[in-house]
Amino acid sequence: MELQLQPLNLPSDQERAFIIAGPCSAETEEQVMTTAKQLAGKGCHIFRAGIWKPRTKPGGFEGHGELALPWMERVKEETGMLTATEVATPEHVELALKHGIDILWIGARTTANPFAVQALADALQGSDATVLVKNPVNPDLELWIGALLRINGAGIQKLGAIHRGFSSYEKKLYRNDPMWQIAIELKRRLPQLPIVCDPSHISGRRDLIASLCQEAMDLGLDGLMVESHCNPEEAWSDASQQVTPEVLDFIVSRLVFRDTKGQADKLKDYRHEIDALDDELIELLAKRMKVSRNIGQYKKEMGLTVVQTRRYSEILDKRGAQGSLLGIGRECIKSIFENIHEESVRQQMEIFNK
Ligand code: PEP
Ligand code: MN
Repeated sequence: MELQLQPLNLPSDQERAFIIAGPCSAETEEQVMTTAKQLAGKGCHIFRAGIWKPRTKPGGFEGHGELALPWMERVKEETGMLTATEVATPEHVELALKHGIDILWIGARTTANPFAVQALADALQGSDATVLVKNPVNPDLELWIGALLRINGAGIQKLGAIHRGFSSYEKKLYRNDPMWQIAIELKRRLPQLPIVCDPSHISGRRDLIASLCQEAMDLGLDGLMVESHCNPEEAWSDASQQVTPEVLDFIVSRLVFRDTKGQADKLKDYRHEIDALDDELIELLAKRMKVSRNIGQYKKEMGLTVVQTRRYSEILDKRGAQGSLLGIGRECIKSIFENIHEESVRQQMEIFNK
């Protein structure tokens, strides 16, 4: 199955990545408006706030729900920013759309549950919303892709993914292990799909956000979602990972955005060149194996052994020296020829056993 996508067309920060910023939770109208105005003042275009909060244990602040949606409408009216919030049930979808929320995201705990994702997909059918799907809490790329397919299957084409790291039993440096390879593999599998990095939920700590933002940009991800609060220490949820709009602006101003467009063409050329060389390498290897099989046949007829250690050492020495002369490490050549030799022996054994 393939995704049918349309561009997100989200306003980006000076043609760099698009940045979604705002508090973990919408706590009070005043906190929402103060944070939004400060962010807008720093040139931020997309405001996030959790209206319904998935909490690990009961008793924490679970969000104001519908009551807080008019605050998001005020943000839009008074700052011109787009608004984004998490939806976890069909009722959330209906209410968020009714109150003009521009971007709906599916939280990590919800993505992990195909029943819940399908219920959201059904509720989204026929709407023009932009939907971002966070990775599931567990490191399961297929589950993440499955959720994207379900939402896309409901006709949602303005679709993206959010990489927020993966939970693990052991507590390590990060609250959620980034496991970048999963985000990279998602990009390889679905190259057209925009991916946003959420360094706040990966790190769980504000001092690690800047370096994670830079890493995400270096890997060619398309945007960032960062939790920002006018008074982070007093936040009702995720206090330790939120930064003020001032600090966020500082972080963003220091980011190095690689020129991925210009580089992309050049990279494409180099990759074509590499692909052509790899083709030749494989063809050559196949030719070498054919000769090796002929040798196997000959050894069999002459009653010789398959492995002749003197000849093998001679190859390793000769090619090792040649490699060093051409700037390839001796060890590398050695391991390549060990592998080739192993396959040669396997093919000759096949002939012997026929
Ligand atoms: C959030 O963005 O506030 C949130 C709850 O995130 P996640 O689903 O990634 O835990
Ligand atoms: Mn949060």
